[in-house]
Amino acid sequence: MNSPDKPPKIIPDLTIWGGVALTLNKKNEIIANAQIDIRHGRIIAIKSVDKPSELTANKVIDARNCLVLPGFINGHTHTGMTLLRGIADDKPLHEWLHEKIFPLEKKWGSKEFVYLGTLLASLEMIRSGTTLFNDMYYFEESAARAVHESGLRAICGQTLIEISGVEEAQKIFAQFDEYLSQIQNYPRVLPAIAPHSIYGVSDPVWKKVSEYAHQRNLRVHLHLQETQAEVEECRQKRKMTPTAFFEKIGLWRNRSIAAHCVCLEDTDIEILNRYQVGVVHNPESNLKLGAGIAPIVKLRQEGVKIALGTDGAASNNNLDLLQEADTALKLQVLQSGIGKLKAEDIVKILTIEAAQAFKLDHEMGSLEVGKSADLIAVSVEAPHATPLYNPFSHLAYSASGCDVKHSVVGGSVLMENRKVLTLDEASILEEARAWGRRIAQ
Ligand SMILES: [Zn+2]
Repeated sequence: MNSPDKPPKIIPDLTIWGGVALTLNKKNEIIANAQIDIRHGRIIAIKSVDKPSELTANKVIDARNCLVLPGFINGHTHTGMTLLRGIADDKPLHEWLHEKIFPLEKKWGSKEFVYLGTLLASLEMIRSGTTLFNDMYYFEESAARAVHESGLRAICGQTLIEISGVEEAQKIFAQFDEYLSQIQNYPRVLPAIAPHSIYGVSDPVWKKVSEYAHQRNLRVHLHLQETQAEVEECRQKRKMTPTAFFEKIGLWRNRSIAAHCVCLEDTDIEILNRYQVGVVHNPESNLKLGAGIAPIVKLRQEGVKIALGTDGAASNNNLDLLQEADTALKLQVLQSGIGKLKAEDIVKILTIEAAQAFKLDHEMGSLEVGKSADLIAVSVEAPHATPLYNPFSHLAYSASGCDVKHSVVGGSVLMENRKVLTLDEASILEEARAWGRRIAQ
């Protein structure tokens, strides 16, 4: 008698085995001795097992003594600026931007500068656990090429900055169509339009941006209400806050990400929540440039989804989201009181809540069957991680990016045992140092 056909056994492409998996799923399940099977870039199984001998995958990564969790999302950065790290410290925002950064960018900004800056940033982000970043800079087609080579994911927002009016904008928009077609070549890159700020773009162009993004279903990424001076200037000119102005011109119809949001009024928070605008908190940049402390607890209480961002390397000065998490928690003690933002909350903000802010949570942000395999393993072997009572506490308060041991994006291994596999680290560092010497002269 014939036995019924057995379904063929599915062999995973990759298995991550032996770690403690923080799934960040709806039940926030934690799975000890986790085996995570990955095939065609997606998670196909996640369970607790004891025996490594059962593993059949083509490749197995040993994650014992690690926490395995979704990769971090850097919600706001300017990777092209990485070559300006440390060149202008200890200045308030306006002076730093107008007297230092804008002139340096004018002198040195080029495709080559952005390409290498983004490669350097990608190295740093892979090594510190980021798997997706939201970028805003110039020559973003060069940034997208670097992202593609690194294996990371990114939303590359081409920056619009001008004050001269509609004619100039027509030129920018003509180039924008070309930009959109260029970055179609990079499957891990999503496009965005990134008008710099209320003070960096004229009103007619803001209206154009709003329409343009709407017609193309394009994401919008901007700096919003970073300082009180920015809000006051807008009030004098338009009799309303920037958030209210953007509502008036229909900008918030688009999937929007607003960085900073330090100086918000209650009505602004209500508008951001109503339109589901994702807010990116950049605590270290805000502190360093003297902007202030964003009302993160209040925003979350109202329902706004938050991501953490490092901002550019020139105002931080690193791209390490675990350090950012530590700063964010301690700042909210000052701003909102002890225990209002907890370790577990900040890990959500780095992963699933950020994915919700970007409307990408159907694809990433938690370890669940069917989602893209974008995940990291963070070692908890070092003295500063011993003993281990609460994994969320370690991630939020003890760990740094240097503890990230493995990184996987879309099922591809970007880093294994602290070695980046997709980029030539030594040559990128050498070239970056050479750029530094030229810029310093
Ligand atoms: Zn910024």
